[in-house]
Amino acid sequence: MDEPKKDTENVLLDGCGRVIDYLRISVTDRCNFRCFYCMPGSGVGFIPARHILRYEEMLRIADVFIEMGIRKIRITGGEPLVRKNILFLFRELGKRGALSELAFTTNGAGLQEHAGPLKQAGVNRVNVSLDSLDPKTFERITGLDCHARVVRGIAASREHGLKVKLNVVALKGVNDTEFADFVKFGVDKGVDIRFIEVMPQVYNTRIAGDLFISSDMVREKIQKVYSLTPIRGEFSTLRSRTLQAPPCNREDAV
Ligand code: SF4
Repeated sequence: MDEPKKDTENVLLDGCGRVIDYLRISVTDRCNFRCFYCMPGSGVGFIPARHILRYEEMLRIADVFIEMGIRKIRITGGEPLVRKNILFLFRELGKRGALSELAFTTNGAGLQEHAGPLKQAGVNRVNVSLDSLDPKTFERITGLDCHARVVRGIAASREHGLKVKLNVVALKGVNDTEFADFVKFGVDKGVDIRFIEVMPQVYNTRIAGDLFISSDMVREKIQKVYSLTPIRGEFSTLRSRTLQAPPCNREDAV
């Protein structure tokens, strides 16, 4: 294993002088869900396989960035767990001793069976996209009846020692009565919660505006039920649309 770098020569800085030590690698644009605000049920134009990097190429890129000071890598998609032999990539990245954090983002459908092997591979964090605690609303959003499976995957991740954060896209008229429930869920289950403003994407430019709720509105709804003082666990909001200018960390947490 590589020794963590101690020198400060190879440090990436952004235009505001902040250290960049975090790299996200998207391994696929495929997903086994069809969240209505993300992609339609049919007619999605996926990237041809020949244009998607092989694992060996991703590892080469990761090593270059590690040499430049990257210490945290997150694997994303689409849904990373639908890519064939994805554990190979996690196991190889897990051997990079210079990394202080190896994480991934998932819709949670494959988490129950993957949580143990991923932990063994060196993963220490997982973000799970979960937009509703109600199975029917979940199915309405994702097109799939597998809410219980995702919840079991979250529990399995905790049992295997992974730190879990839930990503909740705030959707007006869909899950906007559940924000306080999510906060309680986070406290009860020992997971962090992050609310995200819905963003216009290729397939949702027409509906994104109708669904939009700002981070401030999410906060207001929660404050009607809870006072926002430090608690066991964490919730935060990601201002993907309403925060415009640097310097910022794009994330408010209490
Ligand atoms: S799980 Fe994520 S990538 Fe998959 S359809 Fe839903 S929002 Fe899109």
